[in-house]
Amino acid sequence: MYEKIFYSKLNLGLKPPHKDTCKLCDTLAVKIRATEAEPDSEQKVACLSSLKTDTELHHRRVELARTSMLNDKKAAIEGKCSVLTFDLQKTIMLPKVPTGVVYYKRQLACYNLGIHNCATSKGTMHLWHEGVAGQGPDEIGSCLLKYLSTFPSMERLVLWSDSCGGQNRNIKLVVLLMCLVSDPSCSIKEVTQKFAIPGHSYLPNDSDFGHIEKKMMKQQHIFTLDEVKNIIETCRVKKEAFDVMIMKSSDFYRSNEITHAITNRKQHDGKKVSWLNIRVLRVSREKPFVMEYKYSHNEDIQFEEVSFAKRLKGIQTPLHKLVLKQTQPKPIKDVKKKDIESMLPFVPPVYHTFYHSILAATTQTASTLCATREISNQENEPNESNTINCLQSCAEDPSVPTETEDREEYWDSEQFEENADDDPTWERKN
Ligand SMILES: [Zn+2]
Repeated sequence: MYEKIFYSKLNLGLKPPHKDTCKLCDTLAVKIRATEAEPDSEQKVACLSSLKTDTELHHRRVELARTSMLNDKKAAIEGKCSVLTFDLQKTIMLPKVPTGVVYYKRQLACYNLGIHNCATSKGTMHLWHEGVAGQGPDEIGSCLLKYLSTFPSMERLVLWSDSCGGQNRNIKLVVLLMCLVSDPSCSIKEVTQKFAIPGHSYLPNDSDFGHIEKKMMKQQHIFTLDEVKNIIETCRVKKEAFDVMIMKSSDFYRSNEITHAITNRKQHDGKKVSWLNIRVLRVSREKPFVMEYKYSHNEDIQFEEVSFAKRLKGIQTPLHKLVLKQTQPKPIKDVKKKDIESMLPFVPPVYHTFYHSILAATTQTASTLCATREISNQENEPNESNTINCLQSCAEDPSVPTETEDREEYWDSEQFEENADDDPTWERKN
């Protein structure tokens, strides 16, 4: 009753406090306040001036990114190019039940990659759980490939995302995009990837996820991925409903074979390629194996470029002729499996099949993988019989060894940026 009067009669609303504010803005503000409190001196004036310049420069960069995104959105609406933004939603934990003890258990992690079409404001969600795949660059790339395989894109495609190095701004995704544009059967000839400024990444996906999370908050119980799908499909009433795709393990590819076919150069013409500072990068059919990049969203600034082509005597195989192998599901750890089993008494029996199938499937995969690794080590040759071409799908290849867990964590960290030069496994010696 009070809520009704508060919102409808008084026309008032409550604004939540800002969350996830920018690290740099906050640090600079603290430093400025601390310096201002110091006794007057020449050093204080110089320090304050330097801090204020840094703040001003940072705000200009944020403004440039915002203008660039608005311009892209306008271009998309005018039909000059396709513009998509993508982001991973905060991990959804299943089962969602109010029973207190569940808060101390390891739940099943579910991931949702949202892709937002800026021309139509249509959101498409890609849902999977940890028994199917992880949430690294290969998974992000696989969702994008799945979406683009049916999306009627223009020749120029612009992708916006946050600057997460492990997931969005890395060589794996760039090489996947290179494969896409090099394929003559694909309508997309050029992909530009743009990265929002950390702490200021206001992507339309945030608003899409807001609708989903609001509806999920109201549900006391959520047991399965199908229920999550249903919530997502029905959470937006005033605008067009979201499309939801449940991703299967056969939808996920790993890009190792492709990344081995290139040389990840960290220097070009004596200049270091600083991945951490890249704001815009571009790959095109016109320039195979070349990544153009720049450290600013300013459209007047020219792109630098670096070629990832191997220095071979013969002709290098075009990227789209190379194969992407399907990922193997990552086995769920035993401790988590035990926790999931211990939560089943809070889950109605009708939903137990969902959990039993996950537990059974991952157990089977874990044993299959051990056997596979042994065979693989003996033969020391990858099995190419079930490999697939860039955008096509085929039966799963059980002989493909998965990446080690350490390797995945490594990819998810930004550490690989610094170590990639020295990484002996990075470039396969021919
Ligand atoms: Zn900031």
